[in-house]
Amino acid sequence: MFSYRHAFHAGNHADVLKHTVLINTLQHLLLKEAALLVLDTHAGAGIYRLDGDYASTSAESADGVARVLAAEGPLPPALQAYAEVVRAFNRGTTARVYPGSPFIVQHLLRAHDRLKLCELHPSDARALEGNVAQLEAGRQIAVLREDGFEAVRKFLPPPSRRALVLCDPSYEVKTDYARVPALLQEGLKRFPTGAYAFWYPLIARPEAHDLPRRLKALAQKAGKPWLHAALTVKGGKSATGDSQQRPGLPASGMFLVNPPYTLEPTLREALPRLAELLAQDRHAAWTLESGGA
Ligand code: SAM
Repeated sequence: MFSYRHAFHAGNHADVLKHTVLINTLQHLLLKEAALLVLDTHAGAGIYRLDGDYASTSAESADGVARVLAAEGPLPPALQAYAEVVRAFNRGTTARVYPGSPFIVQHLLRAHDRLKLCELHPSDARALEGNVAQLEAGRQIAVLREDGFEAVRKFLPPPSRRALVLCDPSYEVKTDYARVPALLQEGLKRFPTGAYAFWYPLIARPEAHDLPRRLKALAQKAGKPWLHAALTVKGGKSATGDSQQRPGLPASGMFLVNPPYTLEPTLREALPRLAELLAQDRHAAWTLESGGA
């Protein structure tokens, strides 16, 4: 069974990138009145205590969300939107609680939108069910103890013909790197106009470096626009394993298919500031590329 628990990493630099992209994507999609389905294929526990046992074991949020909330001066709009969502779950200026993707999405959705959450880890699924129950969101949210990679077959296309799929696996098992592009392929076949967002770790594994290339090839083959944002916060072992290795994840990326057209300029403004705020050494950097539009 899996050993990955997102609670150890909640609010780290990867979450900041992922959730900034998620929030700014959703805010655009929610401008249209028609109901939106959000399918979160790998949901985690939903919400996390940053002063709890898990998070304080690694304190990754200190180099992530805490730095954004403590930033001096005005933030670019995308980061401001992120900070506002996190602050909505907290009193005061620091974050003691960190909303995961299910709580972020639910916070932004309107009453007629729907959220489907898949989580396979028994403890996280139990925690997610308990946390979601407190929201008293009724039929708006469904928690499924099911394989998120299979969920596109069940939920796409949605009755409302509008959907965002967030696919955020733990990549604990090597097969995740193959299942992510397979999900995109199946999703685009069933629902070509849906928006798809994939998070991935940029680590010294050939599969990790291949993943955005494979997603790009699929988007291009389907004639769909795509957007790829990556954030590096520190030097890490290179794909050939020859440079200095520091503990912890050095970089991650978000790959989107059918992104809102507003997202690229929004991120182009936000990413330089994000790299500056979250830098752990001189290797901090960002990239943003797009195509197919
Ligand atoms: N999306 C969450 C967020 O942003 O707050 C974090 C998710 S975490 C990176 C990945 C989660 O996927 C873990 O809780 C793990 O237990 C779960 N998981 C792993 N494989 C899964 C699968 N095949 N289907 C559903 N959940 C899975």
